[in-house]
Amino acid sequence: MPITLENATLLSLDPPGVMSGALRIENDSVSAIGPMVKPSPGDEVVDCGGAVVLPGLVNGHTHLYSALATGMPPPSGAPKNFHEILELIWWRLDRAHDAESIELCGLIGALDAVHCGTTTLIDHHASPNSIENSLDNLERGIAAVGLRAVLCYETTDRNGAAGALAGLKENRRYLERCAQRNDGRFAALVGAHAAFTMSNETLSACTRLAAEYHSGVHIHVAEDPCDDRLCREKYGAPLVERLTRSGIVDESVGVAARSILAHCTHLSQADAKRLSRMVAAVAHNPRSNMNNQVGYAPTNHLSGVQLGTDGIGSDMFAEARAAWFKSRDACAGLAPTDIVEMLVRSARTASRLLGKELGQFAPGAAADVVVTDYIPATPLTPDNIVGHLIFALASHHVRHVIVAGQWTLRDRQVLTVAENETRRRAVDVTRALWSRMPRA
Ligand SMILES: [Zn+2]
Repeated sequence: MPITLENATLLSLDPPGVMSGALRIENDSVSAIGPMVKPSPGDEVVDCGGAVVLPGLVNGHTHLYSALATGMPPPSGAPKNFHEILELIWWRLDRAHDAESIELCGLIGALDAVHCGTTTLIDHHASPNSIENSLDNLERGIAAVGLRAVLCYETTDRNGAAGALAGLKENRRYLERCAQRNDGRFAALVGAHAAFTMSNETLSACTRLAAEYHSGVHIHVAEDPCDDRLCREKYGAPLVERLTRSGIVDESVGVAARSILAHCTHLSQADAKRLSRMVAAVAHNPRSNMNNQVGYAPTNHLSGVQLGTDGIGSDMFAEARAAWFKSRDACAGLAPTDIVEMLVRSARTASRLLGKELGQFAPGAAADVVVTDYIPATPLTPDNIVGHLIFALASHHVRHVIVAGQWTLRDRQVLTVAENETRRRAVDVTRALWSRMPRA
C-alpha cells in the first residue's frame, strides 16, 4: 500500500535542505515530495506531527561478525598494542564463528542498526573456520530484518594459503550471486584484510577479481603503524608501494575508483591526499580508532571521507558526533559541514554499489526513510542542519523506519522479526560461540 508521511519536517543532507510538507512512497521508491503533496485515495497516511523525517543512514564500514562480542571474556593478559588487540580479541572471535552464529550476527547487527535509523550496512566479514557461504549466512540475518548491505569476505593469508584461497572463492561466489540478482538490496565488494596479512599474490588476486566483476576492493589501510612496518619486515616493501604494485591503488587498473580504504590513520600527508583522491572513499571510524588507541586519521588531508563504525554498533548519529568532537580535540580544522559530508559520502558509495539512489528525498529515490520524534525547539534551516545533527538529533529520536517502501520499525517496534525472541536466542548462540574461542 502506498504511504504518505504528512506534516513532516523533511530534512535532506545531500544537498542540505529543510522543507515542511509530505513525502509519498509508492512501491519501493519516493513518488512525490513537497509542501503541496497530498495523499492519494487508498494511501496509508501517517501524521508525523511536525517531526524531522530524513533519509535512512548508511554505515560506511562495519564488521557485523562482532555483533555478538558484547561482554565477551577478555584475554588473560591485556593487549599491549593494536596487533595484540587483533590476535588476542578479534582473531579469536572470528575463528569461532559457524554458520548459525554468523546469521545471528546479521540479525542482531541489523536490529541494532534499524533502531538507530541506519538502513544500509557496508560490511567487512571474517569467519576463517566457516568461510564457504558465510556471506549468504550473514545476508540471511540482515535480509530478515529488511536492511540493505554491501558485503565482502576478508581475504587474508593469516590462516595459510588455503584460507586465502577460500576467502577469494567466497568473494567470487558472492560477487556472482549479486551480479545475477542485481536487486538493489545486496551488493558485493572484494574483501581484503590488510596488506600486512596478505602476500603480494593474494593482494593482486583481489585486484584481478574486483576488475573481473567491475567491483572494488574493501581493505584496511594504515589503521596502525604495524601495517607499514610488517609490510617492510615480511614482504620487503612499504605498505603504499605494495598497494600500488597490487593494482588496488593504481589508477590505470580501474579498481581504485570503486574501492574503499578503511582508516588511513597512518599515511603521510602526501599519500593521504594522493590515495584518497583515486578511491571511491576512505572510511573514517573515529570511535574505533580511539578505542584501539591507534591515533587520528589525517582527515584534513583526505578527500572522499565516509563515516563508519568499524563494528561499534551502527549508530551514525553517535559516530558523527564523535567525528566532530575528535576533530576538535585534534585541532584538525574541519568545518561542521565536513561531518555532514562524511554521512553523505557513505550514502553515495552505497548508492553506486547497490545501483539505488540512497540518501535522497527525490521522486524515484529509494524509499529508505527515518521518521523521528525530534521536533526542533530552535529554527532548523539548511544552514544549521549540522548543529541539530551534532548537538541534538540522536538515535533515541528514531521512531519509524521504512526500507524500500516497507515498514521495518514502527513506534520503535521491529515488524520484520520477533526481536525479543531473536535476542534471547542470540544469548544461547553466543555462549556456544564464546566457548569455541581458543584460550589466550
Ligand atoms: Zn574495520
